[in-house]
Amino acid sequence: MKRTLLRNYARLIARTGGAVKKKDTVIIQAALDQPEFITMLCDECYKAGAERVIVEWSHQPVKKLGIRHMKAETLGRVECYEEAMLKYRLEKNPVMIYILSEDPNGLKGINQSKYSQAIQSRYKVIKPYRDEMDNKYKWCIAAAPGKEWAKTVYPEERTSTAIEKLWRAILYTSRVIDKEGNRLDPIEEWNKHSESFKKRCKILNEAGLTALHYKASNGTDLTVGLMKNGNFLGGGEHTLSGEYFNPNIPTEEIFTTPFAGKAEGIVYSSMPLSYRGEIIDGFSITFRDGKAVDCSAEKNEKLLREMISMDEGASMLGECAFVPYDSPINQSGIMFYETLFDENAACHLALGEGFTNTVTDYFRYSKKELHGMGVNDSSIHVDFMIGTNDLSITGIKENGENFPIFIDGGWAF
Ligand code: ZN
Repeated sequence: MKRTLLRNYARLIARTGGAVKKKDTVIIQAALDQPEFITMLCDECYKAGAERVIVEWSHQPVKKLGIRHMKAETLGRVECYEEAMLKYRLEKNPVMIYILSEDPNGLKGINQSKYSQAIQSRYKVIKPYRDEMDNKYKWCIAAAPGKEWAKTVYPEERTSTAIEKLWRAILYTSRVIDKEGNRLDPIEEWNKHSESFKKRCKILNEAGLTALHYKASNGTDLTVGLMKNGNFLGGGEHTLSGEYFNPNIPTEEIFTTPFAGKAEGIVYSSMPLSYRGEIIDGFSITFRDGKAVDCSAEKNEKLLREMISMDEGASMLGECAFVPYDSPINQSGIMFYETLFDENAACHLALGEGFTNTVTDYFRYSKKELHGMGVNDSSIHVDFMIGTNDLSITGIKENGENFPIFIDGGWAF
């Protein structure tokens, strides 16, 4: 891929995504397979004024070895140097930039229950830090095409062609180039994109909705309750201190946090779900009193069941997101096997942790109070796609009136 385009993309991530400003500390988490792009990104962070840029490198095969060889107890322990790093983050409030590039199937074959146990016990130590940092720091998730990932998306291509094609798809969906491959001004494009998010969120937030009703010909018929003081968000977000950043590049979704105990009916997936390095496909989940009480899947049902029983909150919803069926990602027809992209292809729900910042004046409440209001509490947050070309989503107002949001898979307004 042309260096000038990659440069523009790196600048977009630093300036629009992480909104790096003078004197910020930046932590970049990336895989070893992207040395050139990460170097470019570091450079752009310094140019944006960063005081220090730290790169935390990882390598999936090494991680896999650890899962295989470590005792469950060792694997689940947060070591003192890791805790020191969490304390450092609390103190510095760094901009976090995550560059995804690894094989979405790369953890296939690991001992899943050993791994989820380890995550749960690590989470106990990490959670207080995470809660404390919540909504205070700027962050951005973006992507670069690792070899294995590119080969997963384009299995029939030679590795170099697959990488080039995946770069092109990433840059197109991130608004760095247009459909024909012509160079755009991505920062300008993102300003326009933000405006359309703002308009639609305003309409939704003024409608006073109490529930959402999903219906599609595949059998989906689900009603999800909303929180009284919940809001719809999309595009950029603000930190508590008022700094504006774009957490996802790309993004097409407008979302809210549903009321964790209120969901009734059945929902069918419309795309495969990549979870813990494996694919769950052709599944449905039945909700009663807000909880997933049953599920079935054509592929990997056992893993799906394990997922929804990770902890109490894992069986409840933490996100409802609207993405039109004609979104650029869906139009591209590419299955990325990576949630950052695939979640922007279609409407989705998430099981697990709800976002607190959708609640009006969320910063006035403790995490516990927010959970009491209906924000789901869980160690997982897993998006799954439900959008089809005939999905309708109807908002229900307090007086029972209907408010059409989606008709035939697209925005009703
Ligand atoms: Zn989402």
